[in-house]
Amino acid sequence: MSDANLTAHPGRLRASNLLWTVAAVAVLLVVVAGLTLIFGRTGERIAVQMCVNVVAVVALAIYCGNTGIVSFGHGAFLALGAYLSGILTMPAGLQRSALPDLPTFLVGHETTIWVSLPVAALAGLGFAALTGSAIARLVGASATIATLGLLIIAHGVAIAAREITRGSQTFYGVPRVTDLALALGAAVVAILLARWYRESRWGLFARAARDDADAATSLGIYARRTRFLSWCASGALAAVAGALYGHMLGAFSPASFYLGLVFAQVVMMIVGGMASVGGAVVGVIAVTLLQDTVRQFEGGATVLGITLPEVFGLTTIVLGLAILLVIWARPQGIVGGFELGPGADANVFKRLTAGVTLASPPEPVAPATLKASDLSKSFAGVKAVQGVSFEAPTGRVTGLIGPNGAGKSTLVNLLTRAYQADSGSAEMGETDLTRVAHHKIPNHGVSRSFQNLRLFSGLTAYENVFVAALAAGHDRKTAAAITLRELDAFDLSDVAGFRADGLPYGARKRLEIARALAQDPKILLLDEPAAGMNPSETDDLADRLVEVSQTRGIGILLIDHDLRFVNRLSDWIVVMHQGAVIAQGTPEDVRSDPKVIEAYIGKGRTAQKAAISETNQTQPTEDLSS
Ligand code: ADP
Ligand code: MG
Repeated sequence: MSDANLTAHPGRLRASNLLWTVAAVAVLLVVVAGLTLIFGRTGERIAVQMCVNVVAVVALAIYCGNTGIVSFGHGAFLALGAYLSGILTMPAGLQRSALPDLPTFLVGHETTIWVSLPVAALAGLGFAALTGSAIARLVGASATIATLGLLIIAHGVAIAAREITRGSQTFYGVPRVTDLALALGAAVVAILLARWYRESRWGLFARAARDDADAATSLGIYARRTRFLSWCASGALAAVAGALYGHMLGAFSPASFYLGLVFAQVVMMIVGGMASVGGAVVGVIAVTLLQDTVRQFEGGATVLGITLPEVFGLTTIVLGLAILLVIWARPQGIVGGFELGPGADANVFKRLTAGVTLASPPEPVAPATLKASDLSKSFAGVKAVQGVSFEAPTGRVTGLIGPNGAGKSTLVNLLTRAYQADSGSAEMGETDLTRVAHHKIPNHGVSRSFQNLRLFSGLTAYENVFVAALAAGHDRKTAAAITLRELDAFDLSDVAGFRADGLPYGARKRLEIARALAQDPKILLLDEPAAGMNPSETDDLADRLVEVSQTRGIGILLIDHDLRFVNRLSDWIVVMHQGAVIAQGTPEDVRSDPKVIEAYIGKGRTAQKAAISETNQTQPTEDLSS
């Protein structure tokens, strides 16, 4: 496709992203201004603390929000930044008395923080790269536990490295240079960076892999790398937050960066909503204000003539109750999934894309053939696929039918390297796909949909397709135009701004196909695309698939239980039964094949063969479940 026929304006799409960034910054500015104007020096102190926490929590959310993994390990980056920046900026004389055994390469730099902050960021990046190579291999609870392990180890190292940290004693002499201007400026920069990362190619890839790692991999996204990059970006910024924190306190110890601080920051992130940058900001503000308000009453107070008793630990109790309340009322946090990509609803999306023209259809693809030769796969003795050979060339719809459990989905998984074949090959031109890494399959012109919906549920319909186009290697502008083209081809333009998990079932099924097509495949593997659709939706889908296959000349391997649908589209039908191909040929040949009739309706019931020849026969719905 040439760039000349593309006139999409990703700039407009970006406008709404900018809006969210501005909103997050504006909320922070209003609160900071309010605090300093109303409460004077006390307010300013709280505001500085709040802004430093914004940097730390936004940094934390770069990893947690984009990968969906909660981290307790960020205290390690905070400590690294604080100690390193402290040592680099400390007056030389003070350093000689406080840290007499400091390694020579750290001695006597006495720099300003404008030098120490970038150094802290680099150190954070390096430390993240080192630890991330292991942590990025993990997902879910095991990743969280690994981050907790990291925190515990870092804490132990900080106590043991007495020459550098003074051990568990207070580390003092750090210039207290984190004033309101610096903290606020850093918070704004952190918000901008986090928003930028979130909407960037890598942020989108990470969020796609977060929502469905297998589906992301099938689009060519290497899930582990997305987690690694998010960890590195997050670690670098967290080290800067730590440095600012250190320069705010002036004196600290390893305990300052341990569970207490880390838990507080994780709570801020979860209360605000970890999936969004705005959530991190709102969470910090809400928790900080609550904390400081309640603290006033901790030692007892008189409100409206009523004398309140002194309650020890009141702050912690109220904070705990507030967290329970938020999680009960809004499990996704205060901001939750509110912060979306391009357009939070259909109208916003329409306005954003007004005047944007679609990419013209791609040139018909070069002829190619996906060829399975003698493919086999067993699961603990169950021969799911045995010795299957067939061809799916471009320019043809190849139907693949067979009763439930025949091995159709397993075959698709073998062709796309989601499963490793026991034997046999799947060739696309000269390449044997069974030897290609799972995430590199799309490079060979093969895309797929899944039998059970596997959309990126936290992304909008637009982003679901956009991320696929980006993963195919297109720049943002081309990817935007392709996205609009595919959304239009599958009647999804009106719902483009909605989250995928909020769409009606039929639209979700179509969205999965649009997502696969955004990669401009030569061969498209569709695993039961019409399952669960009503007859009119099925007809509509058939029309759209005919249009796509004719104009683009791609090959489709179409699996479905709706034989009327398969017959209408397919030029060639392959029939599987108990893992093996039992017949293939034109729809007419296959329909009258005794083996096929037997497989479908069983021995001795051939009198019912009219039922299968009857083209509007559909399998009972219980057969669609596997
Ligand atoms: P179809 O898609 O034709 O309904 P499948 O390919 O889903 O059939 O299943 C074929 C056989 O392989 C079934 O017996 C199924 O239980 C088995 N199977 C498929 N995937 C797996 C898996 N990941 N682990 C174990 N068994 C599997
Ligand atoms: Mg199946």
